[in-house]
Amino acid sequence: MNSTACLLTLALVTPGLASEHYSTPKKRSAKEESDHSKVATQGASAKAGGDARLKALEAENLRLRQELAKKNGAGATAPGSESASPDGALEELKSGNARFTSGARTRSQMGANDAALRQTLAKGQAPFAVILTCSDSRLADNFIFDQELGRLFTIREAGNCPDIQGLASIEYAVEHLGSKVVVVMGHDGCGAVTAVKKAGAEPLPGNLWSLQSAMAGLLESVHPKAGESEAQHLAHLVESNAVRQARTVVARSAAVQHLVANGQLKVVPAIYNLASGQVSFLPPVGIAAAPAEAHH
Ligand SMILES: [Zn+2]
Repeated sequence: MNSTACLLTLALVTPGLASEHYSTPKKRSAKEESDHSKVATQGASAKAGGDARLKALEAENLRLRQELAKKNGAGATAPGSESASPDGALEELKSGNARFTSGARTRSQMGANDAALRQTLAKGQAPFAVILTCSDSRLADNFIFDQELGRLFTIREAGNCPDIQGLASIEYAVEHLGSKVVVVMGHDGCGAVTAVKKAGAEPLPGNLWSLQSAMAGLLESVHPKAGESEAQHLAHLVESNAVRQARTVVARSAAVQHLVANGQLKVVPAIYNLASGQVSFLPPVGIAAAPAEAHH
């Protein structure tokens, strides 16, 4: 067992962790109790229980961050900041990706702690980020961002195009689990974008037509430039598709729009490089930039 694993084993198997932190929801104050009674009982009780679990898991995330910060020293993300704000969440994704590309993964290499972590997470989840990415087998986001179980809420669809269930999944994570950022991540050499590019106006077979529907307008938005190679054109299409799908997430979800407008959430397109492992983050998508039309 390496030193990180040892450290985290200690953190995770500390006696009383599960029972003290997760068994009983906190008592509400008199005001909270009063407010609580005004709301329909069943829904409010479920929400209070969910809030308590969220707080407990955030506390556990904080403990893990503190242990890792001790080990990693300067340069590690401030403990707990990834759950506090969209920028904190983005910073943790960036530092996790830096660990991945430099061959220094820590959070996704905790085999010795898996059982204890599962026990903790069986009580609930508080993922700090939502990752909407391609189904491509090379895009395993827990490795790419060096995060253990319970930290990333992932939706994978070919071409990183969210269908209606994908949008519902995003809404669940940002509204109920406290996720602070939605990353819409495309990648170089994407087969889905390539298929749509090659098909042009011809319909793709089987259910693949739905990719053309989800990427409607993409080919018209990025024409090949003079002297540009096929690979360069594809790279431009991939980037444009990530931005357009991120805009779709905002445009088609009132819940996402509300959180973005309040500064509680960022929706960020990104591109993953298959060979280097590096994730390039593009500017966040704003409300005003969202297109009015829906593609589904
Ligand atoms: Zn792909």
